[in-house]
Amino acid sequence: VPELPEVETVARQLDPLVVGRRIRRVEILDEKLDGLDTGALVGCRIARVRRVGKQVVFDLLPPRARRVHRYLVVHLRMTGRLLWYGQRTDELPRRRAVLELDRGLVVFSDTRRFGTLTLCHDEGELTPVGHEPLSSELTAGRLAALLDGARQEIKAWLLRQDRLVGLGNIYASEILHAAGIDPRRQAATLSRAEIGRLLRATRRILAQAIEHCGTTFSDFQDARGETGGFVRFLKVYRHEGERCRRCGDTIARIVQQQRSTFFCPGCQD
Ligand SMILES: [Zn+2]
Repeated sequence: VPELPEVETVARQLDPLVVGRRIRRVEILDEKLDGLDTGALVGCRIARVRRVGKQVVFDLLPPRARRVHRYLVVHLRMTGRLLWYGQRTDELPRRRAVLELDRGLVVFSDTRRFGTLTLCHDEGELTPVGHEPLSSELTAGRLAALLDGARQEIKAWLLRQDRLVGLGNIYASEILHAAGIDPRRQAATLSRAEIGRLLRATRRILAQAIEHCGTTFSDFQDARGETGGFVRFLKVYRHEGERCRRCGDTIARIVQQQRSTFFCPGCQD
């Protein structure tokens, strides 16, 4: 499942390839996407591609408009991909939609078909409920206020999209290891020092993952159809039974909320 770094990777790669291009035609190949108003997309110029929360957003300048007021919003969900091609090709796998530009194509491919394409007219509606972990507005004080009164283990809390956006199972395990915090700790019991470490670890891990174009185990591909390189830098995720590189203890796997958590009992407390 793409998390924040994977969505950011796709948006960053697509942006320079498609900015300034005009949408010539939109082909919908999956009836689940029939609700998309393709007529409102045709003729629009792409002003920017960016990540908002876990969504890839195309800012669109409609014909004769002076400012952006249409947004094509893409949720990749489980297996969605946005792939850019320089020219028409028939060998595009599992296509659900194709945006034909005045130069190149953007193909939305998605094996499990949980991804969505929607058109939005109000920028305010794009803003996620949760906080953006890479924003400077998220200070240690604000994070402490969010954690205050939480009645969950910290691992489960980190996955809540209405608190921080974009963290999933991989990065939650890695962040807690980097911060030296036991994933089973009650979120509300973290000290100010631990909250500071948690915030710094969150930013560091996400930034490194973006630098390496995300993490791929099975499905994620970036806009060039390549897999993410951060998998080599994972310290605990799917490393159970191996030695912790920080303290030498054995990395463990436990189940929290029916999902695997990986951590080191030696240096996370
Ligand atoms: Zn350790």
